[in-house]
Amino acid sequence: MAASVYAFFGIQGSGKGTQAKLLAEEFLLKHISMGDMLREMAASGSLLGQNVKELIDAGNLVPNEIIVQVAEERLQKPDCIHGIVLDGFIRTDVQAVAIDAMLKSIGKPLTAAVLIDLPEAEIFSRLNDRLSCPVDGSVYNLKTAPPKQAGICDQCGANLLQRADDMDTEFIKTRIQHFYDSTGKAIEYFRSLNKLISVNGCQHIAAVYRELKSKLGL
Ligand SMILES: [Zn+2]
Repeated sequence: MAASVYAFFGIQGSGKGTQAKLLAEEFLLKHISMGDMLREMAASGSLLGQNVKELIDAGNLVPNEIIVQVAEERLQKPDCIHGIVLDGFIRTDVQAVAIDAMLKSIGKPLTAAVLIDLPEAEIFSRLNDRLSCPVDGSVYNLKTAPPKQAGICDQCGANLLQRADDMDTEFIKTRIQHFYDSTGKAIEYFRSLNKLISVNGCQHIAAVYRELKSKLGL
């Protein structure tokens, strides 16, 4: 049987990254995010890596053809043999089509696309409850994951802050709109192939994870 390949989708704050990592850990799948993969390739010193490094250093977007090439090479490494979790990897419908075809061509077809679904109102309430550490970047949530001592980072003792981004309603609305406009089309592509499963993200982490596994038949 071919190794399982999952692609996770979800707006920032949906808990998508947490769920992707939980699944990867339990089933020994390789967790890969786009940022990590491109940084790793840039540091590799290969010809393709140098190409990626130049684009990143110049602050340019890495074009789709190169992303697909990098992914094709990365996903065939031995650590991907038990399966793969692609986290926030596919951002547009063009990438969805290209990466879906590439996965088939390397004999690792997509098993399922996973959407951790969160209504807009819930996104705002979560961002409102979010605190982060200005020193080490640890993130807390007043309702779901509060610090041990109010307002103080568990890791380093610094005073926690609410990020300006998290309080800027217009900025958040723009970010949500952007997600639906671009990534929404990628999600629709997988829905049209009957490969999309949607999980209710408005639950505690453990409950989201239970629903996820049940819908994946795991
Ligand atoms: Zn800290």
